[in-house]
Amino acid sequence: MAIYNTVSDSSNTAVRALLTKIGEYYWGKSFNTGSGKSKRIWESIRDEIFNGECAYCKDKNSKLQIEHLIMFNRTQFGLHHPGNVVPVCNDCNKRRKNKKKEYLDWEDHLLEICLENDTMNTFESKRDKILNHMNEGEFKYPNLNETERNAIRVIANSLYENIKSEGDKSLRMYMELDKVFVKNKQ
Ligand SMILES: [Zn+2]
Repeated sequence: MAIYNTVSDSSNTAVRALLTKIGEYYWGKSFNTGSGKSKRIWESIRDEIFNGECAYCKDKNSKLQIEHLIMFNRTQFGLHHPGNVVPVCNDCNKRRKNKKKEYLDWEDHLLEICLENDTMNTFESKRDKILNHMNEGEFKYPNLNETERNAIRVIANSLYENIKSEGDKSLRMYMELDKVFVKNKQ
């Protein structure tokens, strides 16, 4: 449970639900990694394709989490799709930012991690393994063209704004009703 709930939390949740739905539209079925067949797909990506290691730093010992390569939010509009998920450790799950405080794409994030860990010699093989999972493997991520990517961005932003304005509208409605009640009591 969130400690403090904001309207933008609900807008962001709505955007992630949309990116899940579009991902499942391309995948052709549900991709709920919490149970059943989809959970087994996630486990095979984690344990077989990536050998139970963090895709960015190869750590084997920490609990591996789901990382969306193309970020699953309004910064990168990545879809929730088996081709967009890889296992990562807790530390690598925090997407690095550039000097302008913008989130890096996954390749630059991987590069940063290799530089931090002094493992630049492993950068190319890690990158190729991830690219292979995304583009060639059993769980290929949909090859969206620019028009499709723009459409997803426009619809997701519109959904975000709509939910946000509904939240503000509800507050105004309450304030107006409250005024009426106060007047009636007098
Ligand atoms: Zn890691």
